[in-house]
Amino acid sequence: MRVPGDPRRHLPSIDRLASAVCERDPQIPLWAAQAAARDVVAAARRELRGAAQDSENGPALDSDALIARAELRAREALRTSPARVINATGVVLHTNLGRAPLAEVAAEAAANAGRYYADLELDLSSGRRGDRVARVAERLRALSGAGAAHAVNNNAAALMLAVHTLARDREVVVSRGELVEIGGSFRLPEILAAAGARLVEVGTTNRTRPEDYAAAVGPDTALLLKVHPSNFEQRGFVREAELRELAPIARDAGIPLIEDLGSGLLCDLRSEGWPETSYVPARLRLGADVVCFSADKLLGGPQGGILLGSPELIGAMRRNPLARALRLDKMSLAALDETLGLLLDDRGVEIPTLRMLGEAEEAVRRRADQLGTLLGPLRERLAGTGFHVTLEASRAPVGGGSLPGRELASTALRLRFPGASAESLIGALRREPIPVIARVREGDLWFDVRTVADDELAILADSIETVFVRAAKLI
Ligand SMILES: *Cc1c(COP(=O)(O)O)cnc(C)c1O
Repeated sequence: MRVPGDPRRHLPSIDRLASAVCERDPQIPLWAAQAAARDVVAAARRELRGAAQDSENGPALDSDALIARAELRAREALRTSPARVINATGVVLHTNLGRAPLAEVAAEAAANAGRYYADLELDLSSGRRGDRVARVAERLRALSGAGAAHAVNNNAAALMLAVHTLARDREVVVSRGELVEIGGSFRLPEILAAAGARLVEVGTTNRTRPEDYAAAVGPDTALLLKVHPSNFEQRGFVREAELRELAPIARDAGIPLIEDLGSGLLCDLRSEGWPETSYVPARLRLGADVVCFSADKLLGGPQGGILLGSPELIGAMRRNPLARALRLDKMSLAALDETLGLLLDDRGVEIPTLRMLGEAEEAVRRRADQLGTLLGPLRERLAGTGFHVTLEASRAPVGGGSLPGRELASTALRLRFPGASAESLIGALRREPIPVIARVREGDLWFDVRTVADDELAILADSIETVFVRAAKLI
């Protein structure tokens, strides 16, 4: 239907559209319908303006289409977010999917700390005021051998607190090869500036020698900072100054050497082929005075940033007023405490991240096989449509800015269905009650099961069945 004159004048009012949405689905509350109606009308206005400028044919914007759009939008706005999704990408530490899923006991502890009153800042034995991070700090010391520990809201906060405490209005020496951008707006030079320090760059992009640091140290130098290049790798004509080379330079200058490790492990998996550089206690032994890293990367805990080092340096950070602004909440503390408890008890396999990263290829393949079996009925229903299921070897990065260049051998279930575009199927899977996040490769859908838990297979199979059956009916 084309309306003569300015079609924007024929858009329904917000109130009319909102009440039409509520009429169609009385479950949708008025506030959500109104918000959705406002968005949809605004978008329609923009579309019509664009269409009037560059095309003869205006978009189809009859009122049914607008009501349907507003209804969909209102439903989306009513979903809890963030909420559970099924990660069938194979990327274990997927930043967009919330990085590390918590261990059962950690999730339960977080829920209890949130649900009830908690001994957050009360020492139960003395009845006096307690220190909220004392327990977590004690466990961190036990696991790492560090003299002192602190935990804040995330690793960006940890680095910020360290730099602000130790180097405000002074110089921080960093290699040009380590001026990284992690993504999600973490750019090292900007963090240093925000913490009030002056960056002194040394070396070149690909080569920095210990002498470069030594030459840069002057009366205004507050610390040497080493940063893990979390999401990229340099190869070829490359030289980096090692911690053990930098430690004597820092010691001679009487300044601390700090490492932002990004992702750190507190259990020793070096014998299983994990790089030495991720193992936090080894970094401290090599001469880092302070190491900071994320709690929700390889550690497998809640969002958090961990600082380990000498009592003197960590104590100064804890006394910095900024520490109050960066402190961890009770739910994260509870989850972190339980995660560390699992590591102390040698029960690391109960931490999902560690389990997924360490799982043998054959076990992953068996799970992919199981998923294939669960899809048997779907295969029968879609017989003759060209629907095709295969098991494929796949490779997935660890993700989350951990272990760049390292990929895990995995297995994916590959689904081909000529009846619908892979993009539309993947979109429909994202709109399932428990959204499924999978990948499109070579025009097919790939479900990597390294990141799908045993008890998620049936849910995943159901969602796949629903989406494909629906798509098949549309042909
Ligand atoms: C991931 C990362 C950060 C940021 O950590 P968050 O916990 O996301 O704040 C900082 N530095 C390095 C080297 C990292 O890899």
